[in-house]
Amino acid sequence: MTNAIRLGIDLGGTKTEIIALAPDGNILLRQRVATPGNDYQAIVNCLCSLVEQAQQQLQAGTYTLGLGIPGAISPATGKVKNANTTCLIGQDLTTDLQTRLGAQLAAPIRIANDADCMVLSEASDGAGAGFNSVFGVIIGTGCGGGWVINGQLHRGPNAIAGEWGHNPLPWRSPQDEAWACYCGQQGCIETFVSGPGFARHARAASGQSLTAQQWYQQAQDGDATSQTQVQRYQQWLAQALASVINVMDPEVIVLGGGLSNWLSLYDEVPKLWEQFVFSDQVSTPLRRAQHGDSSGVRGAAWLGGTA
Ligand SMILES: [Zn+2]
Repeated sequence: MTNAIRLGIDLGGTKTEIIALAPDGNILLRQRVATPGNDYQAIVNCLCSLVEQAQQQLQAGTYTLGLGIPGAISPATGKVKNANTTCLIGQDLTTDLQTRLGAQLAAPIRIANDADCMVLSEASDGAGAGFNSVFGVIIGTGCGGGWVINGQLHRGPNAIAGEWGHNPLPWRSPQDEAWACYCGQQGCIETFVSGPGFARHARAASGQSLTAQQWYQQAQDGDATSQTQVQRYQQWLAQALASVINVMDPEVIVLGGGLSNWLSLYDEVPKLWEQFVFSDQVSTPLRRAQHGDSSGVRGAAWLGGTA
């Protein structure tokens, strides 16, 4: 662990946030901007400009930088893979940032999957604190997952641990159509439980073109069609998480990302997953990320500050 100020960036599909953590963990600075469209060079420029502005504003000695991205760094090539912000795929983001920023940084830049950052943050001092095995999921623009076991991020030799979103949705019923996913497969969990995936299914079923958030708001306001669509969503999420429980039986599951703000999930999904989990009873708690939208960026800062 370093005594330098820790910068963390969460590069999201729609917004990008930077924070600076003091050595004692206090947040010194926070800034959030819209993520540039699917343009790699614009994204690199945006990230560098956020870091440079933070450095100017803080006027302190040395920094570390951790970055959470909607993808992973391939252990084989060092390049980005599995990103739903597809312009990142195949790019050597670590080197490109290191070249621009390296002179001012106290340690090599660390990059991890955004879901890994979220679960690291929540397992450390959030909704997963005190549990030995934490499965964390980000449901938002995409749908990623990550594991922290005994306080350590579990990455795996292919850097895909927790990538449940590109397994097929289990126990899929015939009326739930399996659409193509950007990963090349069909009927991936992400095509059902990400915000855009859900909105697309709801539009096909109802003819109404709304965002996931609008569907949920209308369901809360008592609209019957919207309630039906949200119930379908809860059913899909329950099926998807039941398969995780059957394989790894985590002590807690934590949800982050925009759709984790749907409070009905925490009551309804555990009722629905019981029929799919191979157990006489299911005691797994389903919790909302305690640090909310900041979980990913806090985890990124923590990641950058580790040796
Ligand atoms: Zn997929």
